[in-house]
Amino acid sequence: MARESTRVIRIGDKVIGGGTPILIQSMTNTRTEDVAATVEQIHRLEKAGCEIIRCTVPTQEAAVAIGEIKKQITIPLVADIHFDYKMAIAAMENGADKIRINPGNIGGKDKVAQVVAVAKERNIPIRVGVNSGSLERELVDKYHGVTAQGIVESALDKVHMIEELGYENMVISIKSSDVLMCVKAHELLAAKTDYPLHVGITESGTIISGNIKSSIGLGLILHQGIGDTIRVSLTGDPVEEIKSAKLILRTLGLRRGGIEVVSCPTCGRTKIDLIGLANQVENMVAEFPLDIKVAVMGCAVNGPGEAKEADIGIAGGIGEGLLIKKGEIVKKVPENQLLAVLREELEHWDV
Ligand code: SF4
Repeated sequence: MARESTRVIRIGDKVIGGGTPILIQSMTNTRTEDVAATVEQIHRLEKAGCEIIRCTVPTQEAAVAIGEIKKQITIPLVADIHFDYKMAIAAMENGADKIRINPGNIGGKDKVAQVVAVAKERNIPIRVGVNSGSLERELVDKYHGVTAQGIVESALDKVHMIEELGYENMVISIKSSDVLMCVKAHELLAAKTDYPLHVGITESGTIISGNIKSSIGLGLILHQGIGDTIRVSLTGDPVEEIKSAKLILRTLGLRRGGIEVVSCPTCGRTKIDLIGLANQVENMVAEFPLDIKVAVMGCAVNGPGEAKEADIGIAGGIGEGLLIKKGEIVKKVPENQLLAVLREELEHWDV
């Protein structure tokens, strides 16, 4: 089922599915019970572009904290529940906009029924989350190991369990740290259901390996028209997840907006600290809501030509650089003023 045809689900004031724009999620890594630290992190994530936030709710104190956190943030909050169905109910009673559970892990059908009853009463969506690491023994045996087919069957079993309880306000997520298995599982699942899918590659690792695995996995899945919300899971500051998610969506042509920075790889011609400058530019442009391309090139010989496709760019020289627009040199600028001059141009950009 391509994203244009998935069901539309409301999470707080956001809508997902039915071909609406793919939303970016992240998860806090603070103790949810620590309201101040969690709110501070969510504010940083919101500023970076996070559109839905998930917090773990392992204790009653955390469930109560959800209520306080909700008062101080503007994006929908998803309560992540492991094992204890009472936490799912408490999180919903304290204002969670969605809960994420694995119905297979919360202690049997009667417990699931109690959770679903509260969700139904409050019309709160349930994200049915299944992870390859917790696949049931019988499915591992049936498919001779952990497989995409097993993951999909496990997820659909849980979905049917909730449907039998008369509730269909659901989102599905299936995860595997094996990228190709994850892709295959999404292809199989999308062919069998029209519930919106939350897509991510789990346990993908630190910044470099996490970004590579997520880019490949999400790229292959999203490019087939599958996926309604995404999370890039990284072992690092969750703000990095948002930056990566935005770039993945933009690269796939699934989102516009935000400045794209292109920079050359540097070579023997580079006479300025281009690596430092490119990083500074990337950080600096993040605050500008412009939909343009900025080039950061290492030399005056090839830089202007290679930066032709960019709306604006800078190219290094010896002790000075060039300001370029659409491949044309506009003026020379002392090296230590390149960043400031570029910033000024962006501040006065005529949209
Ligand atoms: Fe080398 Fe200049 Fe090309 Fe950068 S733009 S890679 S410095 S030739």
